[in-house]
Amino acid sequence: MDFELSEEHRLIKDTARRIAREVVAPRAKEVDETGEYPHDYFEAFKQAGLLGMAIPESMGGTGNGILPLCLAIEEVAKYECGAGLMLVLSGLPTRPIMFGGTPEQQQKWLPALCSGDRKAAFCLTEPDHGSDAAALETRATRDGDDYILNGNKVYISGGTVADYLTVFARTGGPGAKGISAFVVDAHAAGVRVDRTDDKMGVRSVPTAHFSFSDVRVPAENLLGGVEGQGFNHAMFTLNSLRPTVGARGVGLAEGAAGYAMEWARERKAFGNSVIDFEAIQFMFADMAIQIEAARNLVYKAAWLVDQGKFMKEYAHNLSIAKAYATEMANRVAFDALQVLGAQGYMKDHPLERHYRDARQLTIVEGTSQVQRVVISRAMIDRALVYG
Ligand SMILES: Cc1cc2nc3c(=O)[nH]c(=O)nc-3n(C[C@H](O)[C@H](O)[C@H](O)COP(=O)(O)OP(=O)(O)OC[C@H]3O[C@@H](n4cnc5c(N)ncnc54)[C@H](O)[C@@H]3O)c2cc1C
Repeated sequence: MDFELSEEHRLIKDTARRIAREVVAPRAKEVDETGEYPHDYFEAFKQAGLLGMAIPESMGGTGNGILPLCLAIEEVAKYECGAGLMLVLSGLPTRPIMFGGTPEQQQKWLPALCSGDRKAAFCLTEPDHGSDAAALETRATRDGDDYILNGNKVYISGGTVADYLTVFARTGGPGAKGISAFVVDAHAAGVRVDRTDDKMGVRSVPTAHFSFSDVRVPAENLLGGVEGQGFNHAMFTLNSLRPTVGARGVGLAEGAAGYAMEWARERKAFGNSVIDFEAIQFMFADMAIQIEAARNLVYKAAWLVDQGKFMKEYAHNLSIAKAYATEMANRVAFDALQVLGAQGYMKDHPLERHYRDARQLTIVEGTSQVQRVVISRAMIDRALVYG
């Protein structure tokens, strides 16, 4: 067992840390207030070559893997959780193409997405089907050399800036086996953004509601050229990216705890610094315990993914990391805000933003409840055995 980061890991972490401090931090408050997608963040990630880490070099990525991606996400999420989401989005719509695309499809779309010349979004959730994605209703019907796409997708992160949409649609009967995956031109006739959301947090990355009305999608855009494989591509993608959502939580918690610690050193009460009160010291100790536990879970989960261990028999490890790290971020954001007292509640400090942003993490890419379904099922099925 080796807990040391490699030279490559350290380089990626340092690069992300520099961007976090120079580009992300100065505008974190502003992007939350305006809700405008920060193109400058994306450009900095692009210039640093951080957008292809989740995709192998043979397909146009940089092939670093999910652990290095987590390291970068952790650094930027210390200052702005949406910046972490932007890096997650370098894998969310692209990995279905990596898992399911033919070599021609991979070469057609992935290099431009990994370099940052193009952007994509992942379209699974529908108005009536979130956790129960296998019941989705968007339909793609074959018509000559095309499919005709009709339906609705909601809460699509980065949808307003996407060039391509990785869309999961029903081509067959009910259930998971009837679902296929397509790459859809976001500007094709019949693709419409009906609205964006006025969100509580993570406001820098808009979520779009799409409607598809008789959209002609070339049959060559069906991933793998085979119907009925789409749900697998979606699940492999979500499983393998669970550590990256956890990393957003770890980074957010580190940013919140670090900020509160510096403040507590300066603030005076009853003739002491706030940090001199044992009650406050122990709050920090509890934050540290949880951050360290979550970081280790996330790194281990990311390592498993990089070993190719993200199929059903390993899924509980990924769910444990995602559930714990994202719930931990909520607890730490809560306590860090509390340390600042009234000031923590005000927009003069970033803690109320961290608190709002953390709330997103236990919902997206599989809620905490759904993670517990996966974990308890693994115990019942003896994939996870204690004793
Ligand atoms: C900010 C944001 C960004 C998002 N970005 C994207 C995106 O880019 N692409 C995309 O496709 N989707 C995206 N989503 C959607 C997200 O993945 C879904 O919200 C999530 O999967 C939950 O679905 P739902 O909201 O429909 O909740 P529901 O599935 O309706 O669940 C409602 C409640 O029931 C619980 N529940 C549901 N099923 C079970 C069960 N079997 N056992 C126990 N409890 C259960 C849930 O945990 C939840 O508490 C985003 C959501 C948000 C908030």
